[in-house]
Amino acid sequence: MNIPLAKPEILESDIAAVAAVLRSSRLSQGPVLRAFEEALASYLKVDHVVAINSGTSALQLALLALRIGDGDEVILPSFSFMAVTNAVLAVRAIPVYADIDPRTLNLDAAKVEPLISPKTKAIIAVHTFGHPAQMDQISALARLHGLKVIEDACEALGAETNRRKAGTLGDAGILAFYPNKQITAGEGGALITNSRPLAGLVRSLSNQGRNSSMHWFQHENAGYSYRLSDINCALGLQQLSRIDDILNKREILAGWYRDLLQDDNNNKDVKCYRDYPNVKISWFAFPVLLPEGVRQRDRDEIWRQLKKSGIECGRYFPPAHLQPVVRKFPFRCGDLSTTVDLAQRLLCLPFFHSLEHDSIRFICKSLSAALDEQIGLMQLQNVAGE
Ligand SMILES: *Cc1c(COP(=O)(O)O)cnc(C)c1O
Repeated sequence: MNIPLAKPEILESDIAAVAAVLRSSRLSQGPVLRAFEEALASYLKVDHVVAINSGTSALQLALLALRIGDGDEVILPSFSFMAVTNAVLAVRAIPVYADIDPRTLNLDAAKVEPLISPKTKAIIAVHTFGHPAQMDQISALARLHGLKVIEDACEALGAETNRRKAGTLGDAGILAFYPNKQITAGEGGALITNSRPLAGLVRSLSNQGRNSSMHWFQHENAGYSYRLSDINCALGLQQLSRIDDILNKREILAGWYRDLLQDDNNNKDVKCYRDYPNVKISWFAFPVLLPEGVRQRDRDEIWRQLKKSGIECGRYFPPAHLQPVVRKFPFRCGDLSTTVDLAQRLLCLPFFHSLEHDSIRFICKSLSAALDEQIGLMQLQNVAGE
């Protein structure tokens, strides 16, 4: 038995669409790129989508286009994929880390407000693991203090709060299409916005600072080469055409996990996301929180035991403020005790389209056994006064 953490679903129709682009010889800046952008815009009901070569590049260009740079402060979660911090560092802005709400694993708006300073320019709200962040509160804070809001929806395509899609609620939203995401383009990302000037500037920045109304060899901005090829877009477009099925299937998988983890008394203390009214999770991964008292090395031991049984789990995310790279730059943070506590007790279980009920049952049983064993060891260590 070998169960990976994530696996893209590639159908014959995906392969055919990619092959068709290769045969067309329009490999970049062609019609499939436009079609992918338009399909995303219509799915998300936004005015503008700019496809970019990665989610991280899209984040960086969003910051640049919103005029965030040298010495400006950006509030973001420490509990997140490093791409978010890397994009902030890339524009020489200063990361300011706020703590998370343990229920959603996303920025806690109440912890954001005290961190706002005269230098603060933006908040990056990340919809971690596909669970929407508290956008109402974050947007209200941003309005009050004149800040920009970037939504990182790279893990949350299709997630909703009050029927409004994640990524469409701030000044800019970011998507990504790496193979572990809900839909993949192989690699790739996108910026979504309702602002025409912002979309235009990001498009220019992604393409050597060109302006579409000018000659190909005239450059208006100091740009980058962050285009996404039509080959990638062909795959993305195919996958997007079955997004509703994909998200429904993932919801079924999550339901199986939830049922099995709850049915099994030994797993009583493993916590999954709860349901909240008006919140639709777009299941990216299946995170579980191990019981209180579990330390990082206990979690890591459980992770190793599962790996031995052929089950690949994810230890997302080591807090960004503890990463060696962040220590080399100026940064600020509030109290991050929830981040630090949860990050060491979190485990993401395998999660992908073709995962079967039997496999999920095996994963839950194995988790339960590994957890029992580790808790037994922890109790012995406590008795021994370790
Ligand atoms: C995947 C992801 C990104 C972007 O990753 P790329 O590999 O650059 O496309 C950004 N933020 C989060 C939270 C992600 O999960």
